[in-house]
Amino acid sequence: MHFDADYSMTIGGRAVGADATIAVVNPATEAVIAAIPDAGEAELDAAVAAARAAFPGWRARSQEERRAFVRAIGKTLSDHVEDFARLLTTEQGKPLDDARGEIGGAAYWCNAVAGLDLPVTVNEDSDERRSETHRVPIGVVAGIVPWNYPVLLGLWKIAPALLTGNTMVVKPSPFTPLTMLKLGEALRAVLPPGVLNIVTGGDHLGPLVTAHPGVDKVSFTGSTATGKRVMASAAANLKRVTLELGGNDPAIVLPDVDVEAAAEQISWAAFSNSGQICIAVKRLYVHADVYDRLKAAILAYAGTVRVGDGFAQGIRMGPIQNRQQYERVKALIADSHASGHRFLIGGDVPDGPGFFIPVTIVDNPPEDSRVVQEEAFGPVLPLLRFDDVDEVVRRANATIYGLAASVWSADVAAAAAIAQRLEAGTVWINEMQNLSPFATFGGHKQSGLGAENGIDGLMEYTNPQTVSIRKARAPA
Ligand code: NAD
Repeated sequence: MHFDADYSMTIGGRAVGADATIAVVNPATEAVIAAIPDAGEAELDAAVAAARAAFPGWRARSQEERRAFVRAIGKTLSDHVEDFARLLTTEQGKPLDDARGEIGGAAYWCNAVAGLDLPVTVNEDSDERRSETHRVPIGVVAGIVPWNYPVLLGLWKIAPALLTGNTMVVKPSPFTPLTMLKLGEALRAVLPPGVLNIVTGGDHLGPLVTAHPGVDKVSFTGSTATGKRVMASAAANLKRVTLELGGNDPAIVLPDVDVEAAAEQISWAAFSNSGQICIAVKRLYVHADVYDRLKAAILAYAGTVRVGDGFAQGIRMGPIQNRQQYERVKALIADSHASGHRFLIGGDVPDGPGFFIPVTIVDNPPEDSRVVQEEAFGPVLPLLRFDDVDEVVRRANATIYGLAASVWSADVAAAAAIAQRLEAGTVWINEMQNLSPFATFGGHKQSGLGAENGIDGLMEYTNPQTVSIRKARAPA
């Protein structure tokens, strides 16, 4: 398959354009690479109507049929990894190998999710009655997706929503719509019309989706600020919501750690995807006894990371995905300069073209500084010294976020005891970012509501339905 330069939305299984278009920019060159439809109310209404019309037939199919369709989505991705990956690098900026990893990961997710089953709970099975609670589809699900992993995070929604019998309207980020539009195009020949609709548009479109009376559920991944707007808007018709939001994940390194092994893994967890990962290490707390050794090991590693165009050989970090985010990360670095923080590496941002920011590490800034308190969502990491466990647990938890955390120690029991005290939806011990289609993933506090992945994630696309069968008259 070779992708042409025409980008159309997929509505009711057909190509649909819009009166207006939006330019999409390659973040490595700042060149305009495509024009995409800027959908308004009419196109959104058509997409929701198509999903609504397809719902009864899709819901009535057997679970086995839907499993086969979800696997077919995965096969469409894996059959054309190279084409999708190249398009993804062009629009998102990430190194080509990482883009291949994202497409392959999305295909893997489809296959894994396709094998999952919803539980049936038997509440009572007596002489008089059998009562069971089943999980039934909700209806039309809107998936709203961010720009950091525009394909993988899209499939995290599409696979479980379709498997459980819902139909969908998916809205990619206007910064990274191209790969998802081409996937929608390829799936016109795979899925029944209307089951999966893809609509694109500017900032006006998200609020139209969350306010639409024909949408029954919104599954949203993005920032905490937007997540709050989504939830408020969804209240109008009591849409179900799943919110996967921001994080400011702490990594806690205890004194008995294997310094070299931890340094490499933690660096990668902080800087891969140019730090634009909700579960990136964003605050690195290191015990005073190993602070200098870990600092040296992280610096040695950070010095080897090459930043540049994701298509160039040997590049480990691409650009920041868009100008808005680039300016935000630069402002955070400028604030650290103005506050007199010490930079161990980085701190100078080269002039464009391209939204490139080098690996930047700040040496033990004050806990209340912006670089510690705010989610950078860029390759900027504060290294923070601590002396005792109670103190570091308090500092790690002193945030509105609660997405994930990690603890690094040779003593797994000690690390697990700390994990229990951390306010986070996922805690990794001696590893980071190990996500699985079989493991529940969701944020505590203002990092989210509900969950994705695993059986918990599947259930988010269902309503409970209790069926109570009277077997015999109760004895008088
Ligand atoms: P964003 O909130 O700006 O946008 C996310 C999506 O919402 C985009 O498709 C956008 O067009 C849309 N949108 C914007 N305003 C809207 C509105 N008022 N109503 C409905 N939709 C609207 O987020 P982003 O900048 O694209 O992504 C970065 C953020 O996402 C970071 O905070 C990051 O931590 C978070 N994130 C979280 C997870 C997770 O799983 N928890 C994963 C990836 C990213």
